[in-house]
Amino acid sequence: MAEMDRTNGRTFARGATRFAPSPTGELHLGNARTALFNFLLARHGGERFVLRIEDTDAARSRPEHIDGVLADLAWLGLEWDAGPGREDALGPYFQSQRAALYAREFAQLERRGALYPCYCTALELEVARRTQRASGHAPRYPGTCRELTESERERKRAAGLPATLRFRVPGGRRIEFTDLVHGPQRFLSDDIGDFVVRRADGSAAFFFCNAVDDASMGVTQVLRGEDHLANTPRQLLILEALGMPAPCYGHISLILGPDGAPLSKRHGAASVREFRARGYRPEALVNYLFRLGHSSPEHGLLELEGLARAFDTHHLGRAPAHFDEQQLRVWQKTAVHRLSGAQARAWLGSRIPPGVGAADAEAFSAAVLPNVVLPEDAQPWAEIVFGAAPALDSEGEAMVREAGSAFFAAAARAAAMSGNDLAAIAGAARAASGRKGAQLYRPLRLALTGLGHGPELAPLLAAMPAGEAERRLVRFA
Ligand code: GLU
Ligand code: ZN
Repeated sequence: MAEMDRTNGRTFARGATRFAPSPTGELHLGNARTALFNFLLARHGGERFVLRIEDTDAARSRPEHIDGVLADLAWLGLEWDAGPGREDALGPYFQSQRAALYAREFAQLERRGALYPCYCTALELEVARRTQRASGHAPRYPGTCRELTESERERKRAAGLPATLRFRVPGGRRIEFTDLVHGPQRFLSDDIGDFVVRRADGSAAFFFCNAVDDASMGVTQVLRGEDHLANTPRQLLILEALGMPAPCYGHISLILGPDGAPLSKRHGAASVREFRARGYRPEALVNYLFRLGHSSPEHGLLELEGLARAFDTHHLGRAPAHFDEQQLRVWQKTAVHRLSGAQARAWLGSRIPPGVGAADAEAFSAAVLPNVVLPEDAQPWAEIVFGAAPALDSEGEAMVREAGSAFFAAAARAAAMSGNDLAAIAGAARAASGRKGAQLYRPLRLALTGLGHGPELAPLLAAMPAGEAERRLVRFA
């Protein structure tokens, strides 16, 4: 359990981690992994897992994306202790509803002289950036409005010029922290230009609300994408100026596609919703993501509790993680093999024709499970079992003819009497022909399914409509 933390006069008995998505699109695999790691870190240490929706960008945030992210997290099993639908005293958990709180903290920073209004236009800022780049410098706000006198500000205000608020970065400081993944980090404040904390429309900018929310929500550990590493010193400066505690940050590597570029739509499915729609199981996705950039001595398919026990920030790698769908399929196979008959039936869903009864559907699901990775793989078997008698190719036809009509006459008679019972059918064919082993079963399989290979025959047969085995066998009698 984490130490007692004091924030804004509130005391938290426990530490917390959080996931803070911006609802501007579907939940990407990279973000799902970030959520998973924060969830596991919290569960590992008995801490709270907070979900905060970073929807300050009103133009790009969409309600349907919020719903989608919540649904995907719930589907993955990543239950949050506080967040949307689980509001508590530290909420609201939508940044769009926290404006009053931000206003208080802006006022606090202004009182301390840590902010100043900037009246530069977008064009002026762009010109400054270009000049800096042209002379070989990293672009940074040149401080144009930093030392305006009160009367100069008053004149600009009176002229109705819109202003952002910038954070006055203190000069000559070293900003140091230990990253949970990358170890000791050191930045120089002189390399950081004064940055915007409040936009001209009055809304809080990312650096500011992200940092302030972590502190006021009692967040003590943050795992997030590596792209935020360079933001951290700015966030630490804000928290320091407010006298708020900073969380420990860990910046995790990006997920790359097979070609080495950051995983995206170009590589096919990249969002949780897409994998879910294709029939991937949540436990497969979670177990795969757990191993993506996190080494673990645990090899089997684990429940979330097991993953939480095994999760360790020391095992997070610094090298980028490569997404490999073949690996995901291996986890999927294991997850699918563990499904019960009823679960398998639900998972195959509409691949089983609507008229099929519950018992037959379950028998079919159990029969095909060892041979499928995704529900679509069951489609051909559903057609074979529930559709018209399948035709044979010439090789199959020859093999069936070779078994002879007496063989199939006996088999068909047994099917007529016993129903779709493989033991009775095979017993009768054996007695009539003296065949056994592959010699016996291969012609039967060909006549019944049209193919020489496939899932176990007895349950496939059991799932077929009554009288169907007889109809298929009698064709060759
Ligand atoms: N909303 C930010 C993002 O999705 C959160 C960054 C963070 O985790 O601090 O990138
Ligand atoms: Zn300015």
